[in-house]
Amino acid sequence: MLAPIKNFSAVGMLLYIAFALRGRAYLPEGGALKASEAFAEAASRNGVEIRYGEKVRSIQVEQGQVRGVVLENGTNVHANKIISAADIRQTFYKFIDPSLVPSDFRKKLETTPLSDTFVILSLVTTIDPAAYTFDKMDIFTTDTANINEALTPDHPERSFISIQFPEFHVEAGDPQLFGIQLVAPASFEYQGYWATGPEQARTEEYRKLKEDFAGRVIARAEKLIPGLSRHIVSMDIATPMTMHRYTLNDLGAAVGWSYRSTQQWKQKVPFLRGLYLAGHWVGPSGIYNVAVSGKNAAELVLRNG
Ligand SMILES: Cc1cc2nc3c(=O)[nH]c(=O)nc-3n(C[C@H](O)[C@H](O)[C@H](O)COP(=O)(O)OP(=O)(O)OC[C@H]3O[C@@H](n4cnc5c(N)ncnc54)[C@H](O)[C@@H]3O)c2cc1C
Repeated sequence: MLAPIKNFSAVGMLLYIAFALRGRAYLPEGGALKASEAFAEAASRNGVEIRYGEKVRSIQVEQGQVRGVVLENGTNVHANKIISAADIRQTFYKFIDPSLVPSDFRKKLETTPLSDTFVILSLVTTIDPAAYTFDKMDIFTTDTANINEALTPDHPERSFISIQFPEFHVEAGDPQLFGIQLVAPASFEYQGYWATGPEQARTEEYRKLKEDFAGRVIARAEKLIPGLSRHIVSMDIATPMTMHRYTLNDLGAAVGWSYRSTQQWKQKVPFLRGLYLAGHWVGPSGIYNVAVSGKNAAELVLRNG
């Protein structure tokens, strides 16, 4: 909650602290995935069909009215109402013909800054955080009093790193294993897009580069958690490229637009009948906020017949 987020307003930060103090900050029991699973289960119970692993290639439009989507595998899905929660630039530049997008809207898409990007290390260790009195606390640490330096990406030796202790409720899991997550600011462009080349392919060079970066983050964390590297049982390294691959967010943006953006976005797209938007590209980020935005979009669809 107290992450030094670039250009995040003091008022916004105070609101977060106020929510936390009033007991309105929650951790989903069993890990963050449980929240997504709960939404998916509730939707399925109410007749929603969820198709995992099927990518939308385009949105069909006839005379200013959406008519459905075409999937990557060529399947046509007819729909007169569509809610897109995908990356907003993808929605307006790839799903539809960009010439259908008014120039002032395109300018807004191009000039609004994106959110920051990070490297996230998810570790399973044999270190019980309770031994370090860190249990259930998020720690943000930096060696510099210069905030800009602390936020500079690609320098985990100087930038802030955050250390979190997620709980994994794995049935019959080993009680001697504990989760630690380390986060450091890192750019999408780092060392030639993480040595992935124009195709953004996951090469051996990419693997080496991310392991090297992870080593630097771990070395930094060891100042607070001595011996950490010797207690790692497994490690997943997510780079901004990983974020891009899973969310398809432009340039690996972590949470949609930058916190410094003051742009307002309408959930009902004014220039295409039947198209609605939801998620962190059209409102604040965070699981609670995007859930509310999804509900708003559904209500708009119902209201517009
Ligand atoms: C490291 C990190 C930590 C965070 N921690 C917290 C936290 O503690 N608390 C909190 O409340 N929030 C947190 N957030 C923010 C929160 O996760 C996001 O704001 C939220 O998940 C955004 O939801 P969304 O539905 O808008 O977008 P997403 O969750 O990105 O969902 C968009 C979906 O669209 C899919 N998609 C994209 N393109 C296509 C396509 N062409 N075809 C089909 N599907 C497509 C993507 O695969 C993705 O599943 C965190 C985010 C990050 C990155």
